[in-house]
Amino acid sequence: MTHDLIIIGAGPAGMSAALTAATLGLKTVLLDEQPRAGGQIYRNVTAVDPIVAELLGPDYLHGRPLAERLARSGVEVRQGALVWDVARDLTVTALQHGQSFQLRAPQLIAATGAMERASPIPGWTLPGVMNAGAAQIALKGTGSVPSGPVVLAGGGPLLLLVACQLLDAGVTVAGIIETSPPGNRRKAMPHLAAALTAPAYLAKGLRMMWHLRRAGVHWFTGASQLAVDGRERAEGLRFKAGGREHRLAASVVLLHHGVVPNTQFSRLMRVAHTWDDAQLAWQPDIDAWCQTSLAGLRIAGDGASIAGALAAEAAGTLAALGAAHAIQRITDTERDQRAEPARRALSKQLRIRPFLDALYRPPQWLNTPADDTVVCRCEEVTAGRVREMASLGCQGPNQTKFFSRCGMGPCQGRVCGLTVTQILADELGKTPAEVGAYRIRAPLKPIPLASLASLAAPSPKDPLA
Ligand SMILES: Cc1cc2nc3c(=O)[nH]c(=O)nc-3n(C[C@H](O)[C@H](O)[C@H](O)COP(=O)(O)OP(=O)(O)OC[C@H]3O[C@@H](n4cnc5c(N)ncnc54)[C@H](O)[C@@H]3O)c2cc1C
Repeated sequence: MTHDLIIIGAGPAGMSAALTAATLGLKTVLLDEQPRAGGQIYRNVTAVDPIVAELLGPDYLHGRPLAERLARSGVEVRQGALVWDVARDLTVTALQHGQSFQLRAPQLIAATGAMERASPIPGWTLPGVMNAGAAQIALKGTGSVPSGPVVLAGGGPLLLLVACQLLDAGVTVAGIIETSPPGNRRKAMPHLAAALTAPAYLAKGLRMMWHLRRAGVHWFTGASQLAVDGRERAEGLRFKAGGREHRLAASVVLLHHGVVPNTQFSRLMRVAHTWDDAQLAWQPDIDAWCQTSLAGLRIAGDGASIAGALAAEAAGTLAALGAAHAIQRITDTERDQRAEPARRALSKQLRIRPFLDALYRPPQWLNTPADDTVVCRCEEVTAGRVREMASLGCQGPNQTKFFSRCGMGPCQGRVCGLTVTQILADELGKTPAEVGAYRIRAPLKPIPLASLASLAAPSPKDPLA
């Protein structure tokens, strides 16, 4: 063993887990593939340009003291370290500075976060079409924004947030095309009372809407039949709304239909998962201390279930307390007492989720694209080909790999996985849970072959040699 605890991911969940572990005296290492701590929400927060920081606002700057405390905590933090394999004995293999290396601890917290749900509409593979979160990554990372008019389409709080941030950065927002079906509002209403007990979120949502309306941004709701126009690159978005066909010209189309747990790690580790019909995504099964079905492996934050940054921070604390307890560094009583504030914070953050999940549930047509729409971008497999495979007897996503290489490209099915599961479920008349998900294998992301060679010849200093 090289450490007491390994944490993967330096977002709010991972940073908070590391800070808790440090206060308990655990020998901890935190690995993250990004150059700086912060995760998705607080990306680059310690080095961001002050003008961009002001534009991103106080929710973004909340991450700065967290990242600064981490830097002073004494935790071994290895940025730029891409974890590409984890064995079931919890040996972690990572790549940093072109070299692969291995670490091992009795406790492992994966705090690897969320990813945007794919939006497979006609034309979504054209240059100039991106996820809204990708545009935000460029803004946070380098202060870059699209130069031409931008259309944002889809649904969810992040869509509105990115629209506001781009508008404030001086981008021409040609329109917001909301795809949430009109029935969503009615289904969200029973959850409104609980959501009102966390009024800050609702107030933020209303402020964003007001900001966009006041700026005169064209806004369409209940839109369907979305298709990106353009031959060589995006030139606009066509859609139907209010019973009429529309077209908005744009050189950049940003798509977003919410975020889902990135389950590549948990799938790699073969732990138990459940299909969550409210979030239309897989979630690894975890207990109150973020412990999965594999002893010692904990998953904290949005990688376990989408609940936002403050919930992720609380979950990170609980996971670290669970880890310290499991290796007998704290007693039951100490663990439970220390967990109290995090438990309260988590429960407060969770109150609004049922409302948001119902309000922004993606439309059914998104999960069952038209036959000629590409779903697996890496291997260019269309929805029609997936349906054809189902009619030939293919019973689940793993079999589509044999038939067509669907899900076998560089992204390892990260982008198309949920869509393929849902198309097959629809076609076979089964539930997504019955159809299942892609089996994930190392390497999780493409790595240079030479870095494998560095593993084959461990140096005498290598702790696992
Ligand atoms: C693109 C995007 C933008 C978002 N922007 C916002 C926002 O502006 N405001 C907001 O409220 N919410 C935002 N969210 C939601 C937000 O991600 C969460 O609420 C919050 O960041 C979750 O925290 P976390 O610690 O669980 O994960 P994250 O913050 O996502 O942190 C996960 C970390 O794990 C690291 N990681 C992942 N895989 C590996 C690997 N193989 N090896 C090494 N490191 C790895 C990543 O580099 C990342 O730093 C965004 C989500 C996405 C997908």
